[in-house]
Amino acid sequence: MNIRIERALIFLLILLLACSDHEKNVTKWPYGVNYEIFVMSFADSDGDGKGDFKGLTSKLDYLQDLGIGGLWLMPIMPSDTYHKYHVIDYKNIDPDYGTLDDFKTFVSEAHKRNIRVITDFVINHTGNKHPWFIEASKGVDNAYRDYYVWAKKDSIKQQVFKQNITADSYNLRKWHPVDGDTIKDQYYGYFNGLCPDLNLDNQKVRDEIVDISRFWLEEIGVDGFRLDAARHIFPDDRNEDNYAFWIWFREEMLKIKPDVYLVGEVWMQAKEVAPYLKGLPSLFNFDIGFAIMADVLAGKDTVGFVKKYKEISDYYASINKDFLDATFIKNHDQIRLMSELNGNSDKSKIAVSILLTLPGTPYLYYGEEIGMLGDKVMNYETIMGPDIYIREPFVWDYNGKDKMQTYWMEATLSTDKTVVPFSQQKEDATSMYNFYKTLIHYRNDSEVLTFGEIDFSPISQQEIISFVRSHQGKRLLVVHNISDVEVTVNLGNELKDFDELDFDSGSSGKLRDGELTVPAYSSIVLK
Ligand code: CA
Repeated sequence: MNIRIERALIFLLILLLACSDHEKNVTKWPYGVNYEIFVMSFADSDGDGKGDFKGLTSKLDYLQDLGIGGLWLMPIMPSDTYHKYHVIDYKNIDPDYGTLDDFKTFVSEAHKRNIRVITDFVINHTGNKHPWFIEASKGVDNAYRDYYVWAKKDSIKQQVFKQNITADSYNLRKWHPVDGDTIKDQYYGYFNGLCPDLNLDNQKVRDEIVDISRFWLEEIGVDGFRLDAARHIFPDDRNEDNYAFWIWFREEMLKIKPDVYLVGEVWMQAKEVAPYLKGLPSLFNFDIGFAIMADVLAGKDTVGFVKKYKEISDYYASINKDFLDATFIKNHDQIRLMSELNGNSDKSKIAVSILLTLPGTPYLYYGEEIGMLGDKVMNYETIMGPDIYIREPFVWDYNGKDKMQTYWMEATLSTDKTVVPFSQQKEDATSMYNFYKTLIHYRNDSEVLTFGEIDFSPISQQEIISFVRSHQGKRLLVVHNISDVEVTVNLGNELKDFDELDFDSGSSGKLRDGELTVPAYSSIVLK
């Protein structure tokens, strides 16, 4: 055959496969698999080493191919910190990342690929270089004074600078003098003096927050927000006011965009998280990530794992019927999965398999899909703190050959010597990347996994995590073998209707006469 015709036919075949694949995707925003990105570390378009929106736009095909349905971007507004959680201008894009026009193009290109975009929105505090705070610091009569929280020096005990850590002195250390001037009033900064807390009792500040939200949702077109530090809006002794704040916030957002998606960070135990659900029906499920690591991978409580998950999610759903779980194993504040597992890729794969077969909206942290490493390393030569080593540049190719490679920091843990770059992994059917991709697409194509309920399964074995997912009369039995030995399970009478393999993360699972054989560290789904 003429080589050109042959090529054209192959291309047509690929196109057809791609189209049929796309049609199978049943996910519907905000269901589907989401992906958290630190823009600085993702893709650089102009060669300054810092990731930016033109770079990220050029990698949207990568994300679509992986099967991602939504992106959570860590803060993108102008900031004087590398991580950009200290905002100094709420209505712009940090110059490191490009311009508002670059961002608008990015959002529109993402939407063309059926990928939604949410941005980190830091409401609790601003950076201390924000014009509001610079004004507010000028004196008690300044028009912006009440944008922040101030206390008379006499009301702040002098123990403030003592080092003994008691609850009392801890609270005292949340008060900070302006420019070291301890004679004058001091301001409240829950995290530290570099990020003063906004005074959200002040209606003017609330009006600003609504105005900023309207800007991003209406003018720019983002799909929602990830709400940072949601439980710190008011101090710990004003929890009721915190819950009420988010109910108010949600009502205001729904007026602007009826289908807005809001997901909050409330890093606490389930019982303490629950009251926030009235305002924020999606909250990051910190417990489930810890449980996958501690109960499952460490083999402590495999049997209790599903019970615990179901109890928490039933409890949340009873508080808010719109509850939609936001599950994850790792995020930008935590040691990366492969580092925590000492490079054990079998365990890493089983962990993500569990995550992606559970209900809710699963979030993946960028780079996990190529097995990037990341640990909190204290390096006194940099003032950026230990977290930069869990936020290193994505490893696209060997020797930085990908023209979008970022190099804003010198990668220490994830380099082309410690992590097989994407360029090679995409060619290798057995790579971590292809494992993630296959699994994500399997989930995306399954209504039961995407929308279904979860129930216990009667399989009760230390090596096995097992549950039944169901949706509109269809059921799947999910069986994960978390151990390093092959396990055979008798499905018994209760599970005998599951008689066909639907998914096998390896290729050597077997089902014969009600006996299911699950190889070490592998996941099987039966229908
Ligand atoms: Ca750049």
